[in-house]
Amino acid sequence: MSGRLRVPFGDLARQAAELDPEVTDALARVARSGWYILGHEVTAFEAEFAAFCGAEACVGVASGAEALYLALTALDVGPGDEVITVANACVYQVAAIVQTGARPVFVDIDPATHTLDPALLEAAITPRTRVLLPVHLYGRAADMAAIWSIARLYDLQVVEDAAQAHGARYPGPDAGTLVGGGASAICCFSFYPSKNLGALGDGGALTTRDPDLAARLRRLRMYGWGEKYIAVEAGGRNSRLDELQAAVLRVKLRRLAAWNQARRERAAWYRELLAGLPLHLPADDPGHVYHLFVVECDTRDALRRHLLEAGIGCDVHYPVPAHLQPAYAAAAQRQGALPHTERAATRVLSLPLFPELTRAEVEEVARTVRAFFG
Ligand SMILES: *Cc1c(COP(=O)(O)O)cnc(C)c1O
Repeated sequence: MSGRLRVPFGDLARQAAELDPEVTDALARVARSGWYILGHEVTAFEAEFAAFCGAEACVGVASGAEALYLALTALDVGPGDEVITVANACVYQVAAIVQTGARPVFVDIDPATHTLDPALLEAAITPRTRVLLPVHLYGRAADMAAIWSIARLYDLQVVEDAAQAHGARYPGPDAGTLVGGGASAICCFSFYPSKNLGALGDGGALTTRDPDLAARLRRLRMYGWGEKYIAVEAGGRNSRLDELQAAVLRVKLRRLAAWNQARRERAAWYRELLAGLPLHLPADDPGHVYHLFVVECDTRDALRRHLLEAGIGCDVHYPVPAHLQPAYAAAAQRQGALPHTERAATRVLSLPLFPELTRAEVEEVARTVRAFFG
């Protein structure tokens, strides 16, 4: 027996223990209520999450992926249109763009923040461009002030993928504003269990400042109905957040700010304990909510093996950029090289970071990383 501490990459059971019996009470309340779809819990959660973000409205849906598809559909994006986005965020938003019949156009990332580089946007805009779709990757908001000003200049809509950024704040001149409460047409969230705000299954939401867009999203998530059994939107889906998940999310939303603060604190511990190594640490940003703590190094694969062999969980977010994914090779045919995106995919490594992670665990991770560099 080595006596060495094993550190999991994530451990949702710790959060479940902290939330017991509040979550089980909420589940029992819904189970006994006799009302399971679009009832009091969803309405209350939507109001509470809109208030949290500073948005006019929130519409609960089945998942983050559904939120992205419905956002583009509600903005009438379709065949012949182009949506500009990044290629370093797996394929979630790319699938949504392709589902509408539109074409994804990728711009490179700013290597310092791993988010869309607004300096590259104007060169990518064509007469077919309809939407700019930045992703707030790892919990850091993209440079929205610059993106919004280009959108205004070219009369484009903005949809944010905030699936990793609940409670994050925009950088720069909008530093007081929470993600979801900004100037974009629509902001998309996921409540996948491991996200900063996670359900006990799938769930998602959209926030918007536009009540007409919110009303349209409510129709699109339920068969396109304007009123019961009367379809006024073609191609509506069944994409609802259910009462059980909404009841759980209401309990968890009350803790989101404290959990994000705990994530920031653990990120600061890593910064202190990993200083001076040939390891690139995430640039500091007070609005960052550290969905993931992502370091970069030249010998990523060897470091990853070393950590896994020592019982330290770690992962790569994400190994293959969207334009190099087998499914999207054709969609990306006219795509130029994305040097920063492609380089980051070979260098990024996510270390364990969640609100319940202990100081001793962070120290063990840091000690193991230090041992790798000798
Ligand atoms: C998780 C995630 C999604 C998809 O959310 P689901 O709820 O799993 O469908 C979309 N975009 C990003 C950046 C994500 O991290």
